[in-house]
Amino acid sequence: MSSQDLLSALNEEQRAAVTAPVGPVLVLAGAGSGKTRVLTHRAAWLILEHGVSPHGLMAVTFTNKAAAEMRGRIESLLGLPADTLWIGTFHGLSHRMLRRHWREARLLQSFQILDQDDQERLVRKIIREQKLDEQRWVAREVQGFINANKDEGRRSKQLADRNDPTRKQLIQLYKLYEDRCEAAGVVDFAELLLRSFDLLRDVPELDAYYRERFRHILVDEFQDTNGIQYDWLRQLTGRTGAPFVVADDDQAIYRWRGARVENVQQFKREYGAVLFKLEQNYRSTQIILGAANAVIAKNTDRMGKELWTATRGGEPIRVYAAFNERDEADFVIDRIRDHQRRGLPLAAAAVLYRSNAQSRSFEETLMAARIPYRVYGGLRFFERAEIKDALAYLRLTQSRDDDIAFERVVNLPARGIGGATLELLRRDARDHGRSLWRAGRELESALPARAAGALRGFFALVDRLALEIAELPLHEQVRHVIEKSGLRDHHAKEKDTKGEARVENLDELVNAAEAFTPERDDGLSPLGSFLAHATLESGETQAATGLDCVQLMTLHAAKGLEFPTVFVVGMEEGLFPSEHSAFDADRLPEERRLCYVGLTRAMQRLYLTHAESRRIFGRTSYRDRSRFLSELPPEALEDVRPRISVSRPLYGTDRIALATAGQADASRRRSRAVPVAGEDLPMRLGARVRHPKFGEGTVLRFEGQGESRQVHVNFEGAGRKILMYSLAHLEQIP
Ligand code: ATP
Ligand code: MG
Repeated sequence: MSSQDLLSALNEEQRAAVTAPVGPVLVLAGAGSGKTRVLTHRAAWLILEHGVSPHGLMAVTFTNKAAAEMRGRIESLLGLPADTLWIGTFHGLSHRMLRRHWREARLLQSFQILDQDDQERLVRKIIREQKLDEQRWVAREVQGFINANKDEGRRSKQLADRNDPTRKQLIQLYKLYEDRCEAAGVVDFAELLLRSFDLLRDVPELDAYYRERFRHILVDEFQDTNGIQYDWLRQLTGRTGAPFVVADDDQAIYRWRGARVENVQQFKREYGAVLFKLEQNYRSTQIILGAANAVIAKNTDRMGKELWTATRGGEPIRVYAAFNERDEADFVIDRIRDHQRRGLPLAAAAVLYRSNAQSRSFEETLMAARIPYRVYGGLRFFERAEIKDALAYLRLTQSRDDDIAFERVVNLPARGIGGATLELLRRDARDHGRSLWRAGRELESALPARAAGALRGFFALVDRLALEIAELPLHEQVRHVIEKSGLRDHHAKEKDTKGEARVENLDELVNAAEAFTPERDDGLSPLGSFLAHATLESGETQAATGLDCVQLMTLHAAKGLEFPTVFVVGMEEGLFPSEHSAFDADRLPEERRLCYVGLTRAMQRLYLTHAESRRIFGRTSYRDRSRFLSELPPEALEDVRPRISVSRPLYGTDRIALATAGQADASRRRSRAVPVAGEDLPMRLGARVRHPKFGEGTVLRFEGQGESRQVHVNFEGAGRKILMYSLAHLEQIP
């Protein structure tokens, strides 16, 4: 494509940003205004018009999915592969740098990445070793302390205790944690950035090399960068770089994780960046955009941007009040079926929710209806226990000093290595500053015969596995280790269906390895590359790719994406906005931004649902509809009448069994009322009633007891009413 063709697909404002003179640029604009499009066109423009080599470009995005898409777009603009372009997430790019320069970064060549879950385990272990009260020193909170500091670029030695004993203890735990990671050769997520930042700062030759190479760094979703990411960029761009960043302060949704929207203004000031604004939205209908604008207008303290669309009208936003989470899922799936009948692909529909736990009811219903779906994030494939066990064996074949992996599988399957033996190893490892593996090697002959034998067996197994897989292709390596480590048999012998599912997951891991293409020039073996991928990209490679399927994800994960049909579900107080933010004036604006992100994902059709009662987090709760619903312009909304039939909550296996028998549909459609356990209600929820004045309706819910008992009824003509039951004279219709 010529550079002129490139510009023809842009509007005036977009073109100005893409062709801005080389130098620091900030594009500040609302959702769907083409920020990502401008960023990819800028990359292509630099290559075509300024003769920049793809080798000299770096693009930073928020997820690996977005990175892959961006690479594709740039390649199609250029009409040639751009595989030397460095494109990825902050974490992914830092990782790449550390792999190339592990020596200078003072890492083991075989260093492994510690994910959130492993990190928490390690922290918990340290707390126990210190014999601290685990009620007071909660692993997750200590982990939060460590990560928050790393995100701001602070190591334990840089922290002052300010004479606060609690803080002093936290700093000490942080220090112990650092030492343990160092000894085990593992690096957590935040450390990837911090370490590569140190690398650039401390090794001038490398710093000079990368600055020279990457004069052009393009950053998407800049509003969600944290302290260390900002410093990392500054280190890399120096005085000579020309960073091109795009941002929308209204879509800042990671403050809770240390992101600083202030970075946007700071960038503008510090770099003297030229500012461009984009105001035309190309994504959504006028109705949807108007609703999103109305919600975000409730926030104060915004940088202020306009957003308009040339489209007129659009379908109304449909709001559905469900009885419970089952009914909500049924409603969504019915709509998806409708769309399917009208010839729309399944992938055109996305179900977005606030909390991962909400995906379950949708997954079960979709499964029963035999509609393929894919969950992004959430139930992360690579985070499942059996998968992590298999990965731990694989990691040990690469690095025997990986203590986290060692602890995980040294006695799995059980081989008679007990707590006492492990405790000995741990103590020795601590005292001598060596890994558990080395400690075991030293101590084995001093151990009682049985323990020594068991431990030797484990050492021999791992050494043998390492040898046996050395020459195999990647997926055969994975298969071999799963078989010969005994993990497969171990799960196959489990009696319940869980064991079966675990074996299937292990097989899926072999498939994942087979489908995996190693990263170019990260200096790793295919297995090393696969292991890093498993940690960095957990959750993004779950279902078969390429299959047309419904998309399920959290609102956070939906950032930057767009879908013709969007369902934002669970719009209830205490869920969205979440429990903690509902009463917190500091956090509510962030929830509202998240709502704005959700609404602006929709191109043509938007559905919002909430449930009268919901079983979630192990209990049933009754919540009011979300305040965000009342912030929408009423004329844009259309209430969907509740259906007459209500499906009873059926749980997992029942429903799947029914589906197998091919009856799911019929039984789902049969009208059933919802019994409320343990309560003596005068009528069942979902019952049909007639009122002398309001006509016919459906009973939604009861409140209170005896004389003061109230009933909520949704009347066909008169809408929803709350009545005193004893005075309402409701007549039940069969
Ligand atoms: P978000 O804030 O959600 O990340 P964004 O600002 O990055 O959104 P894009 O994803 O780049 O917006 O663009 C939104 C949609 O509008 C895309 O489908 C894009 O192809 C389309 N679009 C953007 N600019 C134009 C244009 N000038 N002509 C036609 N379509 C456009
Ligand atoms: Mg974007």
